[in-house]
Amino acid sequence: PTKFKVTIIGSGNWGSVASKLIASNTLKLHSFHDEVKMWVFEEVLPSGEKLTDVINRTNENVKYLPGIKLGCNVVADPDLENAVRDANMLVFVTPHQFMEGICKRLVGKIRSDAQAISLIKGMEVKREGPCMISTLVSQQLGVNCCVLMGANIANEIAVEKFSEATVGYRENREIADKWVQLFSTPYFMVSPCQDVEGVELCGTLKNVVAIAAGFVDGLDMGNNTKAAIMRIGLREMKAFSKLLFSSVKDNTFFESCGVADLITTCLGGRNRKCAEAFAKNGGKRSFDELEAEMLQGQKLQGVSTAKEVYEVLKHKGWLEMFPLFTTVHEICTGRLPPSAIVEYSEHAPKFP
Ligand code: NAD
Ligand code: 13P
Repeated sequence: PTKFKVTIIGSGNWGSVASKLIASNTLKLHSFHDEVKMWVFEEVLPSGEKLTDVINRTNENVKYLPGIKLGCNVVADPDLENAVRDANMLVFVTPHQFMEGICKRLVGKIRSDAQAISLIKGMEVKREGPCMISTLVSQQLGVNCCVLMGANIANEIAVEKFSEATVGYRENREIADKWVQLFSTPYFMVSPCQDVEGVELCGTLKNVVAIAAGFVDGLDMGNNTKAAIMRIGLREMKAFSKLLFSSVKDNTFFESCGVADLITTCLGGRNRKCAEAFAKNGGKRSFDELEAEMLQGQKLQGVSTAKEVYEVLKHKGWLEMFPLFTTVHEICTGRLPPSAIVEYSEHAPKFP
């Protein structure tokens, strides 16, 4: 039987932790090659050294996950084509805004028998309508693409604190099980869920709710208000997902990818943290500025996702049905003040 060879495309905060999880398993499981390649978007560090050289010398991503050993079988490669050439299992984990460009560069460069999984929370909006990242991957590259989402703040998993995740798949349970096997560790419990759209939309949309939760924190509104915002947000997540894909299942929202990810991101995520600072500054400093200052090169997904969701809502004539999603975008763009989050969010939405 063919051995599986894994390449990870992306090496940010979560990408680095994913490589640690995967590399610990490929050493143990005989059906996988030991070596795991990780494509790194090359950059030069203040020391003058290239990030890939430092990762390969120290076995640590000193910029995006300092202090954590990735595993000696992780090999960083700055050449995208070279990194994917031999792989038949491709793990996509970059900020979502870079994926269109990456997919274009990969057309015709990957193995014909490759399988893919996306850990990316986000979507693209095209003229034809919204396009989830797993769909972008499968359409552009002609491969099957599962997703892995969950309550997974990367820095906590890096130090091996227990958490759970959900693998969303379309039809092929055997392939979903292969991905579950590749990611599972005693401290990272992964379950399959046959609802790829539902799982991916949960991971994507909760970032918009996390921005709203951050506004509430920045305005010192307290726990009841934050819980209300999370509940209203969850209701909009479910309604939006089901309007886009009638196949989305209610139970998906009770998996790790649903309510659990919503909770952890609204308590401890980067979207929450930057939105809190945005509200504290009365909306006078932009998210781009705050992201650059507070995240050391890491990227927010919630602000652009709010814009993408808004475009879909506007195009479909659904704005009034989603007051929380709509208001988050209007606050991010400066059209409304941060305090509007509680004034507009519960404007009796009309769901069909
Ligand atoms: P990150 O936020 O650390 O982003 C930085 C990465 O982007 C770096 O690897 C950087 O080299 C890369 N980058 C910068 N400019 C680029 C360009 N022009 N082209 C390609 N790459 C470029 O990334 P992350 O935390 O690994 O997040 C990736 C995805 O995983 C996101 O969709 C995120 O929502 C999701 N996610 C993150 C976490 C987390 O806790 N960090 C947890 C679960 C899911
Ligand atoms: P943030 O990008 O807001 O940190 O959320 C991380 C996450 O997706 C946790 O599951």
